[in-house]
Amino acid sequence: MKKLFYIDYPQEHFEGQAHRYRCAFCKQETTKINGHLEGHLVSCEFRIAMEKVGFECNQNVPRPNLDTTDEED
Ligand SMILES: [Zn+2]
Repeated sequence: MKKLFYIDYPQEHFEGQAHRYRCAFCKQETTKINGHLEGHLVSCEFRIAMEKVGFECNQNVPRPNLDTTDEED
């Protein structure tokens, strides 16, 4: 199960920087997280909770090419 964006995590202000937000758990800035689960630290409670319920990181794993062997003789 995958979601494109994970934006429903608790956020908090950077101290003294009202226009900047960060994850309340792992303290990664929202612009760094950018809606991606892997933007959180692996130790982030939110990320752990999401992974526990079956969400995955949006890893850009290159698909291995299907076996397209040349049939030339
Ligand atoms: Zn986090």
